Amino acid sequence: MPIYCYRQTEQNGCDLCRHGFELRQKITDVPLQHCPECGVPVNKIITAVHVHTGLTSGGGHTLSEKNISKQGFTQYRKVGPGQYEKTAGKQGPDQFNAKDLKD
Ligand SMILES: [Zn+2]
Repeated sequence: MPIYCYRQTEQNGCDLCRHGFELRQKITDVPLQHCPECGVPVNKIITAVHVHTGLTSGGGHTLSEKNISKQGFTQYRKVGPGQYEKTAGKQGPDQFNAKDLKD
C-alpha cells in the first residue's frame, strides 16, 4: 500500500502538519486536504510505494514506526472508509475521520 506524506501549505499549522505526517492510503482514496489536528490546508508531498524488487537487502529504506516517531513524524493507517488511526508518532489525534474535516 502506498504511503502518502502530507505537509501544511501555509505557515500557520500545528506541530502535526508542520513536521508532516504519513498516511497509508489506497491509490483510489481521495487525498486528504486538511490537517486532522488543526484543519489548515495540506499538500501531498511524497508518494512512497513499497516495492519488492528483490534487489534491496531487508528494505532498509523503509522507515520503521519507531524511527518515524523519533524523527517527529506521525503515521496513520486506514481502518475504514475515511477512518484513520495513528500507528506511530506523538502529534495529532489518535484517530480521525476525513469526512469530519472541514472543507
Ligand atoms: Zn495541523
